[in-house]
Amino acid sequence: MKAYRITELGKPPVLMEVEVPKPGPGEVLLRMGGAGLCRTDLEVIDHGVEILPWRGPFTLGHENAGWIEELGPNVKGFKVGEAVVASAIHSCGQCEACISGHDNYCEFVSSRGLAEDGGLAEYMIAEARELVSIGDMDPCLMAPLTDAALTPYASIDDARHKIPGHGIAVVIGIGGLGTYAVQFLRELTSARIIAVDIDERCLKNALELGASDAVKSDENAFDKIMELTGGKGVNAVFDFVGNDPTMDLAARITKPMGTIVINGLGGGTLKVKWAYLKPGIDVKFSQGGSLSQLRSIVDLVKRGRIKVNVQHFGFDELYKALDALRNNTLTGRAVIRIDQSV
Ligand SMILES: [Zn+2]
Ligand SMILES: [Zn+2]
Repeated sequence: MKAYRITELGKPPVLMEVEVPKPGPGEVLLRMGGAGLCRTDLEVIDHGVEILPWRGPFTLGHENAGWIEELGPNVKGFKVGEAVVASAIHSCGQCEACISGHDNYCEFVSSRGLAEDGGLAEYMIAEARELVSIGDMDPCLMAPLTDAALTPYASIDDARHKIPGHGIAVVIGIGGLGTYAVQFLRELTSARIIAVDIDERCLKNALELGASDAVKSDENAFDKIMELTGGKGVNAVFDFVGNDPTMDLAARITKPMGTIVINGLGGGTLKVKWAYLKPGIDVKFSQGGSLSQLRSIVDLVKRGRIKVNVQHFGFDELYKALDALRNNTLTGRAVIRIDQSV
């Protein structure tokens, strides 16, 4: 089969011919339908991902969906031909975090497509435990749910108890993940949603998806948000940028007992200091979402509650899609269509 392999960190993926893998106990062989691309793929290509050490060459592609081609020994509850998404995180299923349902914080966390063989190939192996059935939905539409949608969903689901009635939540960065965050806040909470971004078009999009207010991310953002909240500040901030200015804004607008969830890999540092951060605030770095949360998202999308915005590319257009991702010229999440074009 054909596969886009990372053979060395710091080098682009190489299209190679490799053996179709054989599913072991508890695993299935997926015929790939679509694989979404994400900024973490660029990180892998440029220098590798810090928390996932290099273990040798692997196939890229961590937002994966397709059809079950073959069941390995001891697989229950799935049948050949069924359409599924595979979680981007590969957890062990046995550690303390996994057993308590927080498999996205697995002690032995790995990822199909970021450290071991992923889905930018004709076939991929995945553990049946980490698949979610998508019914008659198109795998090329559903693939990005496993990461682009799951990460913001988990951030909001895990923090929603911090948003009381009449609460206010802020989403900083209305890009691929932030647009989902606005929609999940709309679906899971009653919060008034304030969107913050540097781009007017992104702010307009946020208002269409359910935000109540849009604030341009500039030197006046703090004053504007305090004015909108009667000087009280907000209950929750979801930061999808994560640089110094956005973290500083988050710290200054969050009221006592509030929560700040940082998803963006912008490399910023959040100061923890008396009278700077209000008392009782929780700060959290979020990492993906659990398998149970992935199931919830699939349900929401199947019911038409969440708008999924994708831009499709053929299997031979990977480099073009990666360039578009790098240059910010995409109009939706890039998904490589695999089945029709190999
Ligand atoms: Zn990703
Ligand atoms: Zn685990």
